[in-house]
Amino acid sequence: MRYEAVIGLEVHAQLLTRTKAFCACPTTYGAPPNTQVCPVCLGLPGALPVLNGEAVRLAVRTALALSCTIRRHSRFARKNYFYPDLPKGYQISQYDEPFSDGGHLEIEVDGKTRKIGITRVHMEEDAGKSQHLGRTSVVDLNRSGVPLVEIVGEPDLRGAAEAAEYLRTLRDVLVFVGVNDGNLEEGSFRCDANVSVRPVGEAKLGTRVELKNINSFRFVEKAIDHEIVRQAGVLDAGGRVVQETRGWNEDEGKSFSMRSKEEAQDYRYFPDPDLPPLVLDESFVHEVRARMPELPRAKRQRFAGEMGLSAYAAQVLTGHPRVAAFFEEAAALHGNPTRVANFVQSEVLRDVHTRGLVAEIPVSAAQVASLLKLVDRGTISGKQAKEVYGKLVGTDRSPEDVVASVGMQQVTDAGAIEAICARLIESSPKQAADLRAGKTNLLGFFVGQVMKETKGSANPQLVNEALKKLLGLPG
Ligand SMILES: [Zn+2]
Repeated sequence: MRYEAVIGLEVHAQLLTRTKAFCACPTTYGAPPNTQVCPVCLGLPGALPVLNGEAVRLAVRTALALSCTIRRHSRFARKNYFYPDLPKGYQISQYDEPFSDGGHLEIEVDGKTRKIGITRVHMEEDAGKSQHLGRTSVVDLNRSGVPLVEIVGEPDLRGAAEAAEYLRTLRDVLVFVGVNDGNLEEGSFRCDANVSVRPVGEAKLGTRVELKNINSFRFVEKAIDHEIVRQAGVLDAGGRVVQETRGWNEDEGKSFSMRSKEEAQDYRYFPDPDLPPLVLDESFVHEVRARMPELPRAKRQRFAGEMGLSAYAAQVLTGHPRVAAFFEEAAALHGNPTRVANFVQSEVLRDVHTRGLVAEIPVSAAQVASLLKLVDRGTISGKQAKEVYGKLVGTDRSPEDVVASVGMQQVTDAGAIEAICARLIESSPKQAADLRAGKTNLLGFFVGQVMKETKGSANPQLVNEALKKLLGLPG
């Protein structure tokens, strides 16, 4: 590779408010077209915007989670352009006076931590949505005026995989601090990528191309990779990369030119005269900081550190904030985080369905904790616990109740277990001889046979002891 790629991402994330940024219309996704609109978000003459305080709170939380500096004074500006889904003819955004700047996000790439700069986080409103149906086009303005934060990243990323990792990490942060539902499919988390290439060793940046609205993590990597190769091809052929905006066609697996890229001056930004400057006093920022939920990275470190989980388990169990909360609750009730983590990973996660911030978990933390306590006490075996779990799913029954109702018991009669072991050793003389001769992994074979015979109800410790005794193996 004679070229180095330079990538900066701009992410638009919808803030999880009940109402829009400058009016009281609801933000519920999926409502019938044009039913969540009013004079303000329709851009009717004379209608005046009023800033949503909750949107400001969530925007400040976003910026703080990304280690940005919060500016005491900021201002809303009008970004002027014409588009059918923009009824006012301008978008309310922040321009040269954003409410925050100068942050960073740490990402893990190939086991190394990289610090990616965040230029700024600012607030703006969303536009409506155009839909093209054959020869007609229709506009739905339910989304018009929905509050967004734009998170502008520094051009610190050097490859498509790195860019995708940045995006995943950023989404995790926003979801864990509760400002965004991380839903790329529904468009509440969108990404534009600025991509340029330059000869390796060159300090000057190449001409950048903006890739618009890439709506899945899979496409991000493909689209950026494709763009890097395309630009390298242009330069190799002695051409010049043209500054433009390109879209990504997933079906064809290639990008296409949309328009030549606008410069800031094309938008004729100016301060919105309908909105006073935004002043964030220290006590407000302090309060938002004090209520900041734990960031995913810190949570992972705590799970692996003080709770003693493996790095992998900590990673899996922090995949979704509700799953992490469920695990923590069950671990606190039970007392042994590793045991709970193993059970949640091997059984519960299989039945968990997540959509955005919602996670459907079919059992309660209390059910899991008391189920595992039954195993601890020797009332049932680990294998039986899985069976009981199956009967708990989707109910609010207690594990004790299930165990009693099916008459389940763990076989703890040492004599009975020994008799079964003796019979199985007799019926597999070859394995028994090999085991005596030192093939110690065959012990697992016999344990498995006993469990099969007893439908998993034998106490595993007693099984081990009986087998070792009968085979004359060291305890
Ligand atoms: Zn409205």
